[in-house]
Amino acid sequence: MPEYDVVVVGAGSAGLNTAIACAKAGLSVAVIEEHGKIGFPRHCSGLYSTRFLGMMDVRKEFYEHEIFGAKFHSPSGKIVELMRKERAAFVINREALDAYLSRVAAENGVNVMSGVKVVDFDTGNDVCQITMEKGTVESSLMCGADGSNSFVSRKLGFRAPNKLHGIMAITKEGNYDNYVDLYFDNKLYPGFFAWKIPRGRTVEYGIAGNIGPPNVQNFNNFLAKFGVTKYELSSGVIPFGFQKSYANRVLLVGDAAAQVKPLTGGGVIYGMICARIAAKTFADATHEKKFGEKFLARYQKAWKASIGKGISRGLAIRKVYSKMPNSMIDASFGVLSTRVVAKFLENHGDMEFILERKPHAAVS
Ligand SMILES: Cc1cc2nc3c(=O)[nH]c(=O)nc-3n(C[C@H](O)[C@H](O)[C@H](O)COP(=O)(O)OP(=O)(O)OC[C@H]3O[C@@H](n4cnc5c(N)ncnc54)[C@H](O)[C@@H]3O)c2cc1C
Repeated sequence: MPEYDVVVVGAGSAGLNTAIACAKAGLSVAVIEEHGKIGFPRHCSGLYSTRFLGMMDVRKEFYEHEIFGAKFHSPSGKIVELMRKERAAFVINREALDAYLSRVAAENGVNVMSGVKVVDFDTGNDVCQITMEKGTVESSLMCGADGSNSFVSRKLGFRAPNKLHGIMAITKEGNYDNYVDLYFDNKLYPGFFAWKIPRGRTVEYGIAGNIGPPNVQNFNNFLAKFGVTKYELSSGVIPFGFQKSYANRVLLVGDAAAQVKPLTGGGVIYGMICARIAAKTFADATHEKKFGEKFLARYQKAWKASIGKGISRGLAIRKVYSKMPNSMIDASFGVLSTRVVAKFLENHGDMEFILERKPHAAVS
């Protein structure tokens, strides 16, 4: 009998949410995280739409600021402003969120091991044998929630069809504006956009683009525009596009499965949704004692039914946008009235923070 029903590799929000949901379903679970301090290093802006509230309480310990809308900047400097009367998004301290989730996991009986790197696994002998830098552990099932550079996914031969490099700089200027600035320019920020997020006591400047030195140069130029010289730097890879997420005894969740919005690079809410679906699949597999790829394929079907449409739309819009010359982007800013932009984003963009309609909950 293996030691655990499920071992989760990676204690990011996707892995921890999977572990919590598995434990709540009565499974014995361990999470293995390579970093000693869960939530670190920083690799996320932590901007989440109010939909987040449907998934968990927003506690004071991870709340930094609130956002009511956005200013969209065109290449020539036109601005389209989209503001709501109600709060549209939260700026969350992602490190605090992950630390909180790891406490909840432990409270639910999950064995959370940090500072332990998984270096290999084998699912060939009626069990998952997971090799860490020191020692091994066995489980019936395994979850690869090890992020955008997922070892588990690579070993299975799966990879995200697309990847971007997101870079962000946090400065110590206080800024309590209630909107984010988004900068569109296909020469300066090809295929994506740059952003400025007020975080209350700090400000974040960020950019995402193709992996490589030009993106880093574009980021430095973006900072120079604002005269930013002192900052805390972090970065990460953003995977997107449809990818296989199951194999014998294994499911992938979160960035490891490229469960990310292609338009915004937002992956936390999709990861939380898929974590619940993965946990349900793990629970069903355990109860029915069916651990093979054929049974686990239902996971991919279920998450695609939930978020697949959003991903497909995002991919289609990205394809069109990335080919648009700046003159056309400018023209669209001129033509689209705020109302039309709002409708468009509401239907297709799901910009994570602008047009969510869920009611608000109090910050506890
Ligand atoms: C600059 C930037 C800004 C972003 N901003 C936002 C945003 O505002 N909103 C949003 O929704 N999304 C945002 N994202 C995307 C978001 O960060 C990811 O979608 C999210 O972090 C994915 O969560 P995850 O749990 O799948 O992976 P991760 O959070 O990356 O967690 C994976 C964990 O696995 C661990 N791990 C990896 N390999 C091993 C191993 N071999 N053994 C043990 N542990 C291992 C890692 O240490 C890590 O803790 C941003 C991304 C970037 C790069």
